[in-house]
Amino acid sequence: MRKGLLRWRNFALDLRTGLVSIVLLVPMKKLLLSLLLTATVGALLVVRAADSASVKPLRVLMVCGGCCHDYENQKKILSAGLSARANLEFTIVHEDAADKKDERTHQVSIYKNADWAKGYDVVLHNECFGAVTDVPFVDGIAKPHFDGLPAVMLHCSTHSYRAAATDEWRKCVGQKSMSHEKNRDLLVKNVNPTHPVMQGFPKEWLDPKDELYKNEVLYDHFVPLGEAFGEDTQKNHACIWVNTYGKGRVFGTTLGHNNATMEDPVYLDLVARGLLWACGKLDDAGKPLPGYEAKP
Ligand SMILES: [Zn+2]
Repeated sequence: MRKGLLRWRNFALDLRTGLVSIVLLVPMKKLLLSLLLTATVGALLVVRAADSASVKPLRVLMVCGGCCHDYENQKKILSAGLSARANLEFTIVHEDAADKKDERTHQVSIYKNADWAKGYDVVLHNECFGAVTDVPFVDGIAKPHFDGLPAVMLHCSTHSYRAAATDEWRKCVGQKSMSHEKNRDLLVKNVNPTHPVMQGFPKEWLDPKDELYKNEVLYDHFVPLGEAFGEDTQKNHACIWVNTYGKGRVFGTTLGHNNATMEDPVYLDLVARGLLWACGKLDDAGKPLPGYEAKP
């Protein structure tokens, strides 16, 4: 009986000690673990914040000018609107012909320099020079993009240089288009909703008073992202896309004839995502990579 009691008491003591140990040990381990985790996460956040703060802005060269559009105001809308959405630093080259009769044939002077794009991370083309025919000049505009420089092509940039007997600019853009339908409201459909550039773009977007450019040729690396239906052609035309030209990534949209379209947050959000994607600075959720968010 006594032996049995003793055994029971020892067992109870062991059990109590064990429990105490467990009670003591678990919180200590947890505490140490959580302290360690907090310290690690804290350190990582500090490092990441320091990294983000030291990220240099993307150097954007915006080339604008030419026929038929209000480039004087569009350059302001775009530079302010895109800088409010991503970490960008703009250099703007706005050049028009001295004489209005030459507005479609003017050759932007910087393109005459073979190194015209040197020092920039991306070029935003918002130009309208459809009647230029000088092939070496046009090929010289496409070349840095073929070699890897990212590009953003807005609206009439797709119709620029279409009179030149070379496909290099068209291949750089991603498509051949020679004409557009009459100015009217366009219902733009998101046809690639899982693409990072289309994150946040509505399923359908009404773009008032714009021009639908007719796709004539879509080159091999053209990926349609948005389309609108052509009343003249009775078929869909891609009006938002991404493309790869040589080593260069290209984002393009033929939308943006009027300033009101460019001022729309849907448009500016889209172009900002497209620009960051072209530069490899957009994550899968359509957000800028750390450091490439707009600066406060
Ligand atoms: Zn236009």
